[in-house]
Amino acid sequence: MTQYPETVESLIAMLKLLPGIGRRGAERLVLSLLEWEPEKLAFLGELIGTLPETVSTCPECGALANAGELCTICRQERRDASLVCVVETTAQLFAIEASGNFRGRYHVLGGRISPMDAENGSGLNLPRLLERARSGTVREIILALSSDVEGRATAIYLADLLRDTPVRVTQPALGLPAGANLSYADGATITAALTGRTEIK
Ligand SMILES: [Zn+2]
Repeated sequence: MTQYPETVESLIAMLKLLPGIGRRGAERLVLSLLEWEPEKLAFLGELIGTLPETVSTCPECGALANAGELCTICRQERRDASLVCVVETTAQLFAIEASGNFRGRYHVLGGRISPMDAENGSGLNLPRLLERARSGTVREIILALSSDVEGRATAIYLADLLRDTPVRVTQPALGLPAGANLSYADGATITAALTGRTEIK
């Protein structure tokens, strides 16, 4: 079997780890990179290599942020701090932001709860959510989670977790598309889902 030089093969193998990239796609990306100027390649390498130091999660809401800083949304003082929308990932936060109609703040869980998982909720950004719910600033928490089994299990778990806090807990009357698919939902669907909300606590 004919193979590319070792470094090219290694890079193909690494790129194949990314979602949606197969062997052919990875090959095309590497062959395209080989045509770049050396400085541009070095800059790309540096950006990737320093991601762990330059990007972190927002201490307030858990969204991706510059390391050691609040995220761009938590820095916007005019946003309604009494309304907090809970999402699974920063990608979902961006999808809701793109719909352009949500004026509250967010809380990013960093995952969700599997009904099969014995370690319920470990690793999720839950202690901070409880702090926010008890802070006196937040009036309503919207659980904008996926409408699949894990999303529903997470919503039930969170409603229970927030039971003894003074906040109203709601969820979109119309389910949001599951998981990563929310990123592709159109703004109108997201707006409709967030406008009609039902109380679950
Ligand atoms: Zn934030």
